Amino acid sequence: MTHIRTELYKAEARKAIQDRVLQNALANFQNRIGRATAAAYNNLPEGPDLRLKAHDIRMHAIENLDVLLEMLADKLRGRGSRVFFAGCAEEAVDYCLHVARRHNVKLAVKGKSMVTEEVGLNEALQNAGIEVAETDLGEYIVQLAGEHPSHIIAPAIHKTRKEVGELFSQKLGIAYTDHPPSLTRAARKALREKFLAADMGISGCNLACAETGHITTVSNEGNIRMSTTMPKVHVAFMGMERIVARLEDHDALFRLLARGAAAQNMAGYVSYIGGPRQRNQLDGPEEFHLIILDNGRSKILADKEFREILCCIRCAACLNVCPAYGKIGGHAYGYAYCGPIGAVVTPLLVGINRAKDLCLGETLCGACQDACPVNIDIPRMLLLLRSKLADGDANWGVTRAGNGEKLAYMLWSWLVRSPVAYDRFFSLMALGQNMLPGKADMISRLPYPFHGWTQSRDMKRFAPKSFRQIWDEIR
Ligand code: SF4
Repeated sequence: MTHIRTELYKAEARKAIQDRVLQNALANFQNRIGRATAAAYNNLPEGPDLRLKAHDIRMHAIENLDVLLEMLADKLRGRGSRVFFAGCAEEAVDYCLHVARRHNVKLAVKGKSMVTEEVGLNEALQNAGIEVAETDLGEYIVQLAGEHPSHIIAPAIHKTRKEVGELFSQKLGIAYTDHPPSLTRAARKALREKFLAADMGISGCNLACAETGHITTVSNEGNIRMSTTMPKVHVAFMGMERIVARLEDHDALFRLLARGAAAQNMAGYVSYIGGPRQRNQLDGPEEFHLIILDNGRSKILADKEFREILCCIRCAACLNVCPAYGKIGGHAYGYAYCGPIGAVVTPLLVGINRAKDLCLGETLCGACQDACPVNIDIPRMLLLLRSKLADGDANWGVTRAGNGEKLAYMLWSWLVRSPVAYDRFFSLMALGQNMLPGKADMISRLPYPFHGWTQSRDMKRFAPKSFRQIWDEIR
């Protein structure tokens, strides 16, 4: 079952802000990775402008998706692969279950994949009696803890070494240690056994190439390569937008992906997978299935103003610099995708009203676009979502979130266009503020409905004389 808890955004965010351990973990992570990303772009031989070229490459792919996906499918099928186009999450999961049942799969090993999080694959397989072992270390940790990832590429960023040590001691039966190399060795030992015993390998797809007809996976631990080559069946999940036209486009995008994700020049392991094992090949699965998932993406594609979000290559660079993510972490977003990308894509996938708090919670500071390796204009789409919430939108089935805000802005619009009313209003406010609690120059508590503004900060009092009054006096 797909896990959607977007309605709990505010409550979860509040909880996260009070969690000191999480606050430290997020601050350390953003200081370390977030800052290094900009430097990594500057070190590109082509300079940071490569991001603009990458944006064009991705937009070209998005605008030719139907043709490129058919090319990919034809080439893969020509090498004996099976390609399935899934309209929704249920179809994708059912197809995978069908393959698993046909092969009598008891244990599946998995490489990290956000699409499988999106469709709730693990729960479905487990409900069908199939054990699923996540093999990325971070994913393995959150799976042992019975949680969901809190970051797209660093799923266990919310956990401390001590917590991981206790978890491993409890679940793997080893003596407690918080020594990272020892913990990694323990995970590796446990996972080796899973790799050797698995009947099925499951992976995501970082990017596919229409020209060559292959999918590409990247990892820093080599676990995806093990998951996709050792079991006799490999099922790969791919969001339908994750494709480019030409092999040379891969080069630019993967160099940017590694920089955006972890300020690296290139990920440790890059695998091109073009189908099942061929006669002249020594390893690889006997069967290869690619599930290409729509699940709401066609609707995004059809909307010219939101289409750009499909350029995303899920590198997580925007999370690493986002002040909202840096305070509330990933779980508060209540879905597979978090941070700025989650704040745009989740409402579009699960319903704008249902996930409205996600786009309202972002600061519009623009750091996400600056960090994005494909230069996606996330702030523009956040504003667009907010405008749909303010005005309603029949095409997206959005009902207006409330009339209060609309009314307030209509009044404000009238006020700023009427100099006399504007002056009077602020003269009254300057007088009225003296009744509000606080220090000489700061207000510590605003009355309802503005109380949220001063919940965690003070507000500066209005100056005794407005700029316009001073200006008149000077003149
Ligand atoms: S929006 Fe840009 S920065 Fe954020 S995950 Fe997607 S590609 Fe990376």
